[in-house]
Amino acid sequence: MTFSSFIGHERIKDALLRGLKSGALPQAMLFAGPAGIGKRAFALALAKALNCAGSANEACGRCPSCRRIDRGEHLDVTVLEPSTSQIKVQEIRELCAAAQTHPYEGRRRVLLIEAADTMNAQAQNSLLKTLEETPASAVILLLAEHADRLLPTIRSRCQRYDFLPLTLPEVVQVLKGRLQKPELEIELLARLSRGRPGVGLTLDLVRFGTVRSECLIFLRALSGVVAPSAVLEAAANWGKGLDRAELVDRLEALRLLLADLGRCLAGEGAGSLVNTDLAEPLAELSREWTIGRLSALSEQLNLLDQGLSRNLNRQLALEHLAFSLQGN
Ligand SMILES: [Zn+2]
Repeated sequence: MTFSSFIGHERIKDALLRGLKSGALPQAMLFAGPAGIGKRAFALALAKALNCAGSANEACGRCPSCRRIDRGEHLDVTVLEPSTSQIKVQEIRELCAAAQTHPYEGRRRVLLIEAADTMNAQAQNSLLKTLEETPASAVILLLAEHADRLLPTIRSRCQRYDFLPLTLPEVVQVLKGRLQKPELEIELLARLSRGRPGVGLTLDLVRFGTVRSECLIFLRALSGVVAPSAVLEAAANWGKGLDRAELVDRLEALRLLLADLGRCLAGEGAGSLVNTDLAEPLAELSREWTIGRLSALSEQLNLLDQGLSRNLNRQLALEHLAFSLQGN
């Protein structure tokens, strides 16, 4: 695949293609956007375009250089990933030293920092000088989910590109090219990924189906048609048995279901749903809900999300969530 045929992110691609052709590509760039949106794939496509042996300013995808980048073996393309929860100063120092050396086999050295927002302050400070005076033969790419966690001094030295969710047809196109699955499954994966093809590519539909069924039961319990004790019991069960990652999965599934319940309440057709395969149970469940209760629950889920990043007690938080909805 050539760089220009990369699916999605057209505006960013146009800007970078212009930069590649005119030789005015920024040397320090910040790719910001949620996980799975395609920042890394895009950055590697750019690395290929910068070094392709088959064509200037493109990524043919077939030449030895493009293939070596695909296999992670190209000597001039370095990907730094956090080995722990933080990128440490020593790792950045090594990367900065690599930026100063001439390319071994290609035209440009490409230094890619994954999860750059996990660099600690010392690591960020040690990167400043290299960002300011990047050697002409090097390009530095910072990838970040939370760009606001980077120091302003880092952000101001990078050209920032915000990666927005792909359209549904774009995600379908990406998934079709990578997965051997029936059309209906691809369509469902694309909808569930909400514009992030990386999510669609890795989502296990069987596992997700189980998680979603649990969420439906939880929503039924919260809908007020059952006794309050059942609500508390459902919340307590979730709190007890789940680790943090499992709860995060459930919160994500709950959000998708709530958004669909909102669509049902607004009278939108089944075609507008994300969980297209659950059109009937969702329509049925929506009769027990009001917009007010839906937004109250969404708000509680956001609070729970914030609490999770502070490691709060999951069971207590879920019970609080169930309690807070009983009066609504
Ligand atoms: Zn090539």
